[in-house]
Amino acid sequence: MFMKKKVLIFIISILLILVGFFLYPSYKTAGLKETDSQYLTEVETPAAVVEEPATTEDVQSEEPAADVTATEELGATNQDKVIVIDAGHQQKGDLSKEPIGPGASEQKAKVTYGNVGVKTGTPEYQLNLEIALKLQTELEARGYTVIMCRTDNDVNISNSERAAIANEANADAFIRIHCNGYDSSSVHGAMTMCQTPDNPYNGNRYEESRLLSECVLDYLVDETGCKKQNIFEDDSMSGINWSMVPVTIVEVGYLSNPDEEAKLVTDDYQQKVAVGIANGVDAYIAERAEL
Ligand SMILES: [Zn+2]
Repeated sequence: MFMKKKVLIFIISILLILVGFFLYPSYKTAGLKETDSQYLTEVETPAAVVEEPATTEDVQSEEPAADVTATEELGATNQDKVIVIDAGHQQKGDLSKEPIGPGASEQKAKVTYGNVGVKTGTPEYQLNLEIALKLQTELEARGYTVIMCRTDNDVNISNSERAAIANEANADAFIRIHCNGYDSSSVHGAMTMCQTPDNPYNGNRYEESRLLSECVLDYLVDETGCKKQNIFEDDSMSGINWSMVPVTIVEVGYLSNPDEEAKLVTDDYQQKVAVGIANGVDAYIAERAEL
């Protein structure tokens, strides 16, 4: 019994040694693998850690950079576009005369009094200025460089002098804002005006002026919902004839029509008129390259 027990212990010891001998290499291998995998993990993890902030940094730095670039490009694109706005007429007309175009023998009043609202008696020069100032704000918000022929009613600037302001600025567009008037109070709607292709002073600017007139009228009508009249081509307007840059007169509505006048005196409608004209300017700038 004693001997058997001793033998048994011996055999168990041998077995334990053998088991230990066989198991050690697999433990060692497992240990190495673990080390390897730890090593890999350590390498990958910092790489991932490095990459992730890099990615985040890229995204963070690229996006504002892209925004800034886009803004700068938009600003640069529009900042070098000069829009001259003429609020038609002034508080006191100047009926002394000036040639209707460079070198013309025919003469017309330097600047007339303009129309008056049939219902409220609001003068055209006042409404023209209110709309012109809203258009200035709208265009400047879109990045354009805007030059105003007048920001006050108490001025005396002839139509040829207003065109000279646009010429000196080498304006991309000269927008002349007016309100219409007619004998019949039922007539309403908006129209634009430019020279004919045969204009002796600036016929070479006809295509641009025509496109500008089309764009401004279309977008003005879209924005306000007013009736679309037509584009009137005419070579008797001093402010057009003296303009050597693309020009349009926009008659935004009729002060002789009580309903249209009621709209034109409100800030809301004036703002729609301004946005519509500005949309037309945007469209003109985009489309003129195709001329
Ligand atoms: Zn007018």
